[in-house]
Amino acid sequence: MVMRELAGKLKNSLLKLGLTPESASLEALELACFAAGIPRDRYFFSQERELPLRVSPEELTARRASGEPLAYIIGEWDFYGLTLKTDRRALIPRDDSVSVLELFLEKLPKCPGEILDLCTGTGCLGIAAAKERADIRAVLADLSPDALALAKENCSLCGLADRVSVVPADAFGKPPFEDGAFGGMICNPPYLRTEELDMKTPEPIMALDGGEDGLDFYRAVASGWKRVLKPGAPLCFEVGMGQDADVAEILQREGFSGVVTGKDLSGITRAVCAVK
Ligand code: GLN
Repeated sequence: MVMRELAGKLKNSLLKLGLTPESASLEALELACFAAGIPRDRYFFSQERELPLRVSPEELTARRASGEPLAYIIGEWDFYGLTLKTDRRALIPRDDSVSVLELFLEKLPKCPGEILDLCTGTGCLGIAAAKERADIRAVLADLSPDALALAKENCSLCGLADRVSVVPADAFGKPPFEDGAFGGMICNPPYLRTEELDMKTPEPIMALDGGEDGLDFYRAVASGWKRVLKPGAPLCFEVGMGQDADVAEILQREGFSGVVTGKDLSGITRAVCAVK
């Protein structure tokens, strides 16, 4: 089977799983390249070639059918121009988070020194910030040792191991940093309400569970982590749909000022930022 036929076969199977024709085409190309072990941008030069496959199309389709996300199967996902390693150790980076990163970069002063990405997961936000801004160093923090190991691999993959480091930290605990250590902080915490969690999700539940009202992390971070920020430093949160007003109020109550928000591509307010 040449690559074109392999992609066609995969597309048909994905259509049967209920994917839209656009998604089925895109995923089929990704999976065909993954099966043949070639980078995506080589597909069009390889369409008429028959390549040895390291995994069968049947197995790939079965994994998709069982609910395994594409990003976990192919083991990488693009975020803000970076290709990051993705697997079950952390949440898959979402395009929604780009609006949070952009608002953070807009509010970050020049030469802020170190910035903190708390609840970093794959490391996508802190790594993308460091890639974008040569004047910063980033610290990626997470409670999950698995997520931290993945974030560390991603720092190296992106060639940023010299400016980005990883540190274990619990958002509900005492921050393991000095007062005023950071010139900015970005945070995409777990924010789903416990009752709305899908317990069968392949993504780590601890990266999604924001407590009874979904706001536990915002309260803990705004009150417990304020001291690690320099005066005037921005704190930028990703929020769930409809949580922006509550999060703005939490920030104001903790003494932050100048609340601004940003919308994601679907027009949902996804970023809430304020300064210490
Ligand atoms: N956006 C994710 C979802 O809806 C949630 C991410 C998070 O809790 N930080 O699945």
